[in-house]
Amino acid sequence: VASRLQSSGLLRTQGLIGGKWTNAYDGKTLEVNNPATGEIIAEVACMGRKETNDAISSAFDAYKSWSKLTAAERSKRLRKWYDLLMAHQEELGQLITLEQGKPLKEAMGEVGYGASFIEFFAEEAKRVYGDIIPPTLPDRRLFVLKQVIWLLTLLLLNLILSTNLPNQSCQNSMPVGVVGAITPWNFPLAMITRKVGPALACGCTVVIKPSELTPLTALAAAELALQAGIPPGAVNVVMGNAPDIGDALLASPQVRKITFTGSTAVGKKLMAGAAGTVKRVSLELGGNAPCIVFDDADLDVAIKGTLAAKFRNSGQTCVCANRVLVQEGIYDKFADAFSKAVQNLKVGDGFSEGVVQGPLINEAAVNKVETFLQDAVSKGAKVLLGGKRHSLGMTFYEPTIISDVNSEMLLSREEVFGPVAPLLRFKTEEEAIHMANDTNAGLAAYIFTNNVQRTWRVSEALEYGLVGVNEGIISTEVAPFGGIKQSGLGREGSKYGMDEYLEVNQICMLGG
Ligand code: ADP
Repeated sequence: VASRLQSSGLLRTQGLIGGKWTNAYDGKTLEVNNPATGEIIAEVACMGRKETNDAISSAFDAYKSWSKLTAAERSKRLRKWYDLLMAHQEELGQLITLEQGKPLKEAMGEVGYGASFIEFFAEEAKRVYGDIIPPTLPDRRLFVLKQVIWLLTLLLLNLILSTNLPNQSCQNSMPVGVVGAITPWNFPLAMITRKVGPALACGCTVVIKPSELTPLTALAAAELALQAGIPPGAVNVVMGNAPDIGDALLASPQVRKITFTGSTAVGKKLMAGAAGTVKRVSLELGGNAPCIVFDDADLDVAIKGTLAAKFRNSGQTCVCANRVLVQEGIYDKFADAFSKAVQNLKVGDGFSEGVVQGPLINEAAVNKVETFLQDAVSKGAKVLLGGKRHSLGMTFYEPTIISDVNSEMLLSREEVFGPVAPLLRFKTEEEAIHMANDTNAGLAAYIFTNNVQRTWRVSEALEYGLVGVNEGIISTEVAPFGGIKQSGLGREGSKYGMDEYLEVNQICMLGG
């Protein structure tokens, strides 16, 4: 697979700075491994502060012209990027499976999902509107600009004010500026496109720092961005020493925004670090998703939804169900049917036919799962299914169900980020809502019920940014994604995702 990727030109190992593929200045490299086999796939440039500072300078230079293009022009190039991503769906999918481990079909799905953000924001680029506000004084005019094509504004201002404004006075584009985008390994493509799509659409330029575990997909996507005519410097990629790269991004006054997906601990550090230069931050952090199955749920729908919400990407997503809360009347039936469904999940190398559960990302991830399980069992939980490393070795873990879990156990307090479904029993709706909200996280929640009134009552009572009702797969490019409480700040995807990359500029003008 690696050699096929090489011949397609998509296996890049250098960083991208100002449109040039670049080695680390000290020549250092880092290995990228296939988590299913442990093999080294490639050695990529291991970069730090200096390279990051150069990438920031390139992004700053590119910003001056990229932000001045018309939205229609930016849109065309983003659309081209989307077309190229889709034309290479198979190779990109292979790259994701190779470095991240998820099954090829799921990886190809991620390419489609990831690319959809580029398509959506290519379209959305043309729909950034401002406002005209009725003034409080008769001779004032109030305009709110987010982004306006300069010619139009010039005309408008001339019309209203009957004055001759010179061309060069029109600086109407209000993107945030240079953006630092720091992304995790669980969606090597989609976590990047979800940030870079709206950023570029608004006229921002970006320095991307992908996870050092999965840089290859990011580099391939950047290569396709260049091919699509996104100008040199508008998209830069640096990877290597995460704290050094992060510090350089935080320290630079030219970087006006940090957008991050990853752990809550790192997110908090970045938020604190952004204070020094008062940067905007968007954070998509950890979740602790409750999946609530009520007595009145359709059992088949609940099983299908919980399976999807829990086991996609082997449990390694921030919206994965972390706690399955089941009402006492349906608990035994649910546990039985769920065990049968989970037993059928085929574990293996993501390239093998029929596999739906790949390996975990690394040894640390397996250790975490083991620690959480030991903690639960020592406090009285029972293993219904799985509960140990898979016979395939490496970082494969058996899809697992644990019953009799309570709120004291690590499994229900923190994100396990693995293929473990803890079942918790509840009696009443109020109790379920209390248990669900009893956490600092607030990203995704799921409910399964056929009662319409309950659907609304519970959906509104849940302190979460996303609620799936009778549905386990809830993210799409057209709807806002993001958390409340310590799960993060800001929204990605949809029209709301654009606002994250735009400033609001008020112009109060004496006229008339
Ligand atoms: P995960 O547990 O998903 O790996 P992390 O928060 O550790 O979550 O990683 C998410 C991203 O944040 C990765 O790209 C990682 O390299 C980066 N990262 C980790 N530590 C820092 C840091 N101190 N500064 C900037 N980025 C960091």
